[in-house]
Amino acid sequence: MKFIENIFSVKNENNHKILTICWIKFKFYSPRKELHNLRNEIGNQSIKVNNQVISEFIDLAREEGYFLSANRGFNLNPEKKVLKEQIKNKTNNHEYKMTHRSCLCGANNDKLLAIRDRYGIEINTVICKNCGLIRSNPYYDEKTLNDFYNIEYRELYTFVNNDKEKFFNNQVNIGNKIIENIINNFSFTFENKIVYEIGTGMGGILKAFKDRGATIKGVDLGKEYIEIGKSKGLDIEVGSTETLGKYGQADLIILNHVIEHIVNPVDFLMGIKSLLKEDGLLYIAVPTIETIQTNYRNNIFHYLQNAHVYNFSQETLTYVIECAGYNPNAHIYSDGAIICKKANKNRAVDDINIEHYNYAMALLKKCDMTFYSEYKNI
Ligand SMILES: [Zn+2]
Repeated sequence: MKFIENIFSVKNENNHKILTICWIKFKFYSPRKELHNLRNEIGNQSIKVNNQVISEFIDLAREEGYFLSANRGFNLNPEKKVLKEQIKNKTNNHEYKMTHRSCLCGANNDKLLAIRDRYGIEINTVICKNCGLIRSNPYYDEKTLNDFYNIEYRELYTFVNNDKEKFFNNQVNIGNKIIENIINNFSFTFENKIVYEIGTGMGGILKAFKDRGATIKGVDLGKEYIEIGKSKGLDIEVGSTETLGKYGQADLIILNHVIEHIVNPVDFLMGIKSLLKEDGLLYIAVPTIETIQTNYRNNIFHYLQNAHVYNFSQETLTYVIECAGYNPNAHIYSDGAIICKKANKNRAVDDINIEHYNYAMALLKKCDMTFYSEYKNI
């Protein structure tokens, strides 16, 4: 009511049209609204809107802790808001438990980067000052992860209006892209080759390989999606790595957006070595921090998600792969992917790249600055 009165009072002024236009822009132009929210968050600090000053603001604000408290995530629909609250309540009453874990490099020397993910779920993202690996810490314990994946995960993370056919077709397209990446880097044909995928969902990626003449086998813990894939004639089943063991060794194993969800990725990768032929290929793709620019429009808070234990870079993904006993043979930066083969030895856990912390921080900062430069015309 108060707001309506304000508009009416403006009508009696000479410049009422200008003010009315301002109001319309405020209401419908979401970046301005977001900037307005930012002002509220940090109090009365001056924010001048041009590239240079905004950059300074970001530096200052990050030092002051702004980066930690920012709320630049998704606008959730009512159903997702309920799920978010549910997770919050379960965490508050310790039904969902978190435990501290050291970095994969063994260090406990973290810098806190963010306290919320893209859904607004409270989870700490830290960067290891030793090796530059970005991870969620503390992170959910094993029972919590089981419950979260069974109860909230699928509905919270599914978009495109739950259009499963569209999702399947997207996966087929990703499969074709993986094929292209392999062909561009290796003399590899798919006819009569055995291809495994762990975390296959509906098996859309494997469909692309099947169409090229490969023998496919996929496993996933989610029954619903597996049934859909099976109804499309794909040879996939509910199961895990152990399930694939009975089918022998593969020429190619695909892990598409899987290992960032796994608490012990090095152990996991070592565990699947026996599933791969000696000269076989392992294709691993994750949402690397390098893809924040391209796939998340530089918004770090659209990138962070509570289901991810790790936010790898090409460098830290390479570290994990090498520690697990693989050689990275091809890096595909645009897709956050690495194609590797079995190595003769494992990289030592303490063999880290001490320069990487600075690289990762500079990359995040660049993303943030680019993101805010979009406000320059407000
Ligand atoms: Zn580390």
